Amino acid sequence: MSYLFESFKGWKTYCEEKEISLPQSVIEFEVDQKNGEDSQIKAGLLKAYGVMKDAVKTGLEEDMISRSGMINNGAKKVYNYHVAVLSPEFQKLISRALAAKEVNSCMGRVVAAPTAGASGILPGTLVTLQEIHDLADEEIVNGLLVGAGIALIIEEKASLAGAVGGCQAETGSAAAMASGAIVYCLGGNIDQVFTAVAITIQCMLGLVCDPVAGLVEVPCVVRNASAAAIAFSSAQIALANVNAVIPVDECIEAMGEIGASMESRYKETAMGGLAATLTGQEISKRVLISDIEILPDSESPE
Ligand code: SF4
Repeated sequence: MSYLFESFKGWKTYCEEKEISLPQSVIEFEVDQKNGEDSQIKAGLLKAYGVMKDAVKTGLEEDMISRSGMINNGAKKVYNYHVAVLSPEFQKLISRALAAKEVNSCMGRVVAAPTAGASGILPGTLVTLQEIHDLADEEIVNGLLVGAGIALIIEEKASLAGAVGGCQAETGSAAAMASGAIVYCLGGNIDQVFTAVAITIQCMLGLVCDPVAGLVEVPCVVRNASAAAIAFSSAQIALANVNAVIPVDECIEAMGEIGASMESRYKETAMGGLAATLTGQEISKRVLISDIEILPDSESPE
């Protein structure tokens, strides 16, 4: 069964030949890999979705100030701001993605989907999708299964890690997972789900990983919001049967090729991009000094 998640083309063929849905194929794969049972896998995902919902709530209700001070209750400010740039649903989408990611930056509990750096995207998109369309948790779990299949293929063909492929691999992959999940949950067929992934990746290609002071805060938190927006827009485009032109497998290969040619300073080393700006460097020094100051005496440098 291992060929199943080597390509989107292979995944589609497998489902069509066996006449099973995308989520069912992921369950079969998980059962095969882990000797588990369908019910255990679905229960695990329900639990994970519960953690995602809690992260959104926590980020919107509790004080979210990171130790560096770079993150300071941004989600609540966006959620409550009175001048509307976006529709109310869109404003909530952005706020929720920010909220769950802020919880991560403030050392709270999140689901790394696929990584902690991108942990606001699936919660923000799925909680908002569920609210708009009044979906049951079980339907969202099917979306999560589709997202898991998408991540398996991206990992196989490119990467899910910022240290390997830049931020396109983290927030880009999470957005692709979310976009495919949304299309599936709204009744899209396999081609539409994969088109959503292709369009999302096309929008996220080339994004570098440049966290200020090496902390997963800036620009990570705001990138979770923009990736959630791209996931929604790509899902809308795909559901309307707009052609992605470049097939999804080739989009992922392009992501892998770009990631491989990216210089190491753009791969989580905090040596390039925003991390290397004057302000980024100043923040980095300040964070380093405050870290040294809070070391216990026995650990203080000589
Ligand atoms: S900038 Fe780097 S650390 Fe931050 S979310 Fe993107 S990949 Fe993760």
